[in-house]
Amino acid sequence: MKLAIVLLSTLFFLSVHSFKSSEEKDAEKYLTEFYDYDKSTGSLKDSLKDLQKMAGIEADGKLSDEVISHMNKGRCGGKDKDKKSKRYVAANARWDRGVTYKYYLHLDWMPRTMSEAEVRRAIQVALDYWVRVSNLGFAASRDKAGCMFSVSFSGRDHLQYDVNKNFQPSKDPYPLDNVPSGVLAHAFFPRNGNLHYDNAETWTEGKDSGINLRIVTAHEMGHAIGLHHSNDPSALMAPWYGGYISEADYRLPNDDTLGAQSLYGARGKRALPLKKRDLGKLQSRLCNAKNYDGVFAFSDDKTYVIADGSNLFRLDGTNVDETFEPVEINEALKNADSMFYDKVNKRLVVFKGDKVYSASGSDVKTLKVEEMKIGGHGAYLGKSSAAFARQVSAEEGMQYFWLIQDNEVISGEVLKNKIVFSRRTRPLSEVITMSNGAKFPPSIDAALLSGEKDNLQLYLFVGNSYYVGKPTGRKQFQYSISADYPKSYKQVLKC
Ligand SMILES: [Zn+2]
Ligand SMILES: [Zn+2]
Repeated sequence: MKLAIVLLSTLFFLSVHSFKSSEEKDAEKYLTEFYDYDKSTGSLKDSLKDLQKMAGIEADGKLSDEVISHMNKGRCGGKDKDKKSKRYVAANARWDRGVTYKYYLHLDWMPRTMSEAEVRRAIQVALDYWVRVSNLGFAASRDKAGCMFSVSFSGRDHLQYDVNKNFQPSKDPYPLDNVPSGVLAHAFFPRNGNLHYDNAETWTEGKDSGINLRIVTAHEMGHAIGLHHSNDPSALMAPWYGGYISEADYRLPNDDTLGAQSLYGARGKRALPLKKRDLGKLQSRLCNAKNYDGVFAFSDDKTYVIADGSNLFRLDGTNVDETFEPVEINEALKNADSMFYDKVNKRLVVFKGDKVYSASGSDVKTLKVEEMKIGGHGAYLGKSSAAFARQVSAEEGMQYFWLIQDNEVISGEVLKNKIVFSRRTRPLSEVITMSNGAKFPPSIDAALLSGEKDNLQLYLFVGNSYYVGKPTGRKQFQYSISADYPKSYKQVLKC
C-alpha cells in the first residue's frame, strides 16, 4: 500500500512537471523570438512581464492562460519591445516627407485564395490608411525601375529584394514559419522596403474567415515607414492580428495616426517641430554641430565624427549611436586639421599644423597619442583640411592616403611605423570633379573614403553639406560627384 502511494504521487508529479515544462519551453521559444529573451542570462518572469505589458494585461510575470492564448494568436514576425510609458515608438529612420514612393508587387508566388486584382487593391487600400493621415504617398508600379520597396508572398525560406540593385534577390536571413496562423508576415524598417507575407496563410478580403490581407499589410507598412510595435492593444501596430474589420468600418487607430504624424507630419500641415519628434539626444547634438572637423572609420569598423572641435560621436549607419556617450577627445587631437585610420599600424594618423600624431589603442576613448615619424616631408605644406585613405592590398599591408591642402591634393604611403609623402601634388580639380562641370569648393572640412573595392565612396564634408564622389577610371584615384550634391548632412542624420 505504501509503495502504491509513493508510485502514484511520483507519477502525478512527473505528469504535472512534464506538462508544465512543455508549455514553459514553448514560452521560452516565443519570448526568445519576439522579446529578446536569453535563456542563459535573462529572467523568464521579466520577459513574460514584457509580453503582458505589450498585451495590455496585468504584468505579474506568470505563464497564465491569457498569456498562452496571446502566444497562440497569429502575429507579425517583427520583434516586440518593452517601451515603458511610450505608446507608438518611431524607429530612428524614415522616408522623405511629401514624396510619393512607387512600389512593386512580385507575382512569382501569389495567394491561391485571392485574384491578382484583389491583392493589388487590398495593398493599395492598406497603404492609403497611412497616406490619409500623414505626408506620405504610395503608388503601385508594374515596372521595378524607380520603385522604393516591394511586396512578396513566400514560404519558410524566402528571398528578399535589394531595392538599390533593381530588386536583385538574396536569401532573407529571417525565415517565415510557413504554417497557418503563427507568423503571418514581416517587414523591414526604412529604408529597406521589403514586405514579406507567409503564403501558408489563407489570405482573404471581404470575409471573416482567413487572414485579412489589407489589415496585415497596413500593419507591416507601419514598420516599413518606421514604426515599432505598440503596447496600445487597440493599435494597428500591436503585434497580434486583431481579426477582420470590413473596409467600410476600418479607421486607422489614434495611436498609429500619431506615430505616423510624428515622423511625417499631419497631412496638409507642416511637419511637427524637431523637439516634439523622437529624435535621440545625441542625434540632435550632432545635428546642431556647426561643422565636422574629422570623420574616420576606426578599427572596430564604426565611423566616428569629431564635431565642433572636440566632441567625438559614433555613428550607427547614418544614425548617431545613442549608446556611445560622446567624449572630449585628447588635447592633442582637438581642432586637428585632418585625420585618417592607418590600417597597417592600427592607429589614427592626425595632422595638426606641421605636426603629425599617431593615436593608438583599441578603445577610441582612451587613445595613446604620440608625435610620429615622417619618412619624407615631400610636398607636405604643414597644413591640410581633410584626409582620406585606402588600403590597396590587404596582403601587402599597403595603404595610400591623400591630404587636401587648399587647392591641391598630396598623396602619401603608409609603411611600417612611418608615413611618407609624395614629392608632387595634384590640383584638387583633377582629383575631384563635379559631373556637371561645376567647380568643387576647396574648403573641405573632413573626408572619408568608405566601402570596398567595387563600391568605394568618397564622402566630403563642407560646412553643413556633404558630397559623395565615386571613383572614375580603373586606377580609382579620381572621383566624380554627381550633380545631386551638395546635400545637407542634416538630411542624412534625419535632423
Ligand atoms: Zn509588426
Ligand atoms: Zn522576409
